[in-house]
Amino acid sequence: MTQSIKLFIAVTGLIVLSLQPVVAIADVGLEKQVAIEKVDDLQPIIQSLSMELWNFSEIALEETRSAKLLADVLEKEGFSVERGVADMPTAFVASWGQGGPVIGILAEYDALPNIGNAPVPTEQAREDGHPHGQGCGHNLFGAGSVGAAIALKRTMEQFDIPGTVRLFGSPAEETVVGKVYMANAGVFDGIDVTLDWHPFYLTEVSNDTGQAMNNFQVEFFGRAAHGAHDPWNGRSALDAVEIMNHAVNMMREHIEPSARIHYVIPDGGEAPNVVPAYAKDWYYVRDDNRPKVLKNYEWMLQIAEAAAMATQTTHKVTLITGVHELLLNRPLQEAAQANLEYVGAPEFSEDDHAFARDLQKNLDIEPLGYPTQVSPLADDVQPVSGGSTDVAEVTRLAPGVSIYVATAGTDLPWHSWATAASHGRPNASRGAVVAAKVLALTALDFLLDEDLRVAAKAVFDEEMEKNPYVSPIPKGQKPILPESQQR
Ligand SMILES: [Zn+2]
Repeated sequence: MTQSIKLFIAVTGLIVLSLQPVVAIADVGLEKQVAIEKVDDLQPIIQSLSMELWNFSEIALEETRSAKLLADVLEKEGFSVERGVADMPTAFVASWGQGGPVIGILAEYDALPNIGNAPVPTEQAREDGHPHGQGCGHNLFGAGSVGAAIALKRTMEQFDIPGTVRLFGSPAEETVVGKVYMANAGVFDGIDVTLDWHPFYLTEVSNDTGQAMNNFQVEFFGRAAHGAHDPWNGRSALDAVEIMNHAVNMMREHIEPSARIHYVIPDGGEAPNVVPAYAKDWYYVRDDNRPKVLKNYEWMLQIAEAAAMATQTTHKVTLITGVHELLLNRPLQEAAQANLEYVGAPEFSEDDHAFARDLQKNLDIEPLGYPTQVSPLADDVQPVSGGSTDVAEVTRLAPGVSIYVATAGTDLPWHSWATAASHGRPNASRGAVVAAKVLALTALDFLLDEDLRVAAKAVFDEEMEKNPYVSPIPKGQKPILPESQQR
């Protein structure tokens, strides 16, 4: 479409309206039509950003090039960018506009360690040997959200819609760190709504709260001695780890079935003939709400103390991070659902479906290709699927809604080489384009429809009165950065 026709449409709206089917006139105003067109204009950029982020595939808090890429694009578009927020060099905030309402859009870009794969339907290292992979599709998440923010800004500019667009470049989602520390540092203060999406093998509005979680380590400090010559002079930190794990495993019988507790021993000593002076235990404890997590967490802290006492060692607990369960917001979910149904699920090519079917066959999964439909919005909150997300923190600072858009074949194992391969195909960005449209349209609903703003806030306020927000981590706690990022 030429610039002059676009301008004509912008000024009159007549062509757009006359070209649309009747239902579109009823459901979608001119602003939304224009926003969709703006995302279509951005499609090549969304695709190239998603491919660049896939090539980088940088893991949590090492996303230097990824964060810079997205921040630079937004800065060039006229957003003012603050980099390195909340003591994380790879976190940023890009803002455009003035006054309220303030629309928050979340973007992620971190990869998962050691699941990198070439964009082929078999398990195969990347040609450049890069080990990490976008098995969660955050390359698409970052690119699609940036596309949404730019399209929204351009639409607001064109129609003189008051408000602010604020894109939050949030690192380290996979370690459930980024948004927790950004929230703790006040980075999200002042937003009226947050919108986000996530790549998946379904296209739907999320109606699942995820699990609340605490992630913590317990270090035990004993005394080294020769394991055979003078073990009575030693005190074993590994013994303390073993007692702690044994006691927690006995505790399992007496906790609710919704709880999940899992651990590893990152450090259990150096050699059998040395009484280990140092050992480390690492736990996640999850449940379907935060009070239930805290109940079990307190119990586990008592166990750690008891383990130290029993072994005459000392111990130190480090709460690395924690999250709430998501706060759902029905009025926003319904608005997002209407927009998702209007935009429709991403359309993948026959070649894409063949690729997905090959992957599915190789993994003994029914070869269904990509999903082609938008799922209906579930009436009831869905059973918790078992994971936790730091998006939950943001939904407790302002009303928010999350959508899923298909970017990989049906039922493929998530966080795997198969999804890392899928997300490296240029056409995976079709999911990011759909997401960008739905986020931009839902933002426009919020900007233009006061009833929606009031309804969304009422749901949020009701929950906050019952459960005011308390950060899972102590005020002012700094994230643990990888050595390369420490300043
Ligand atoms: Zn993810």
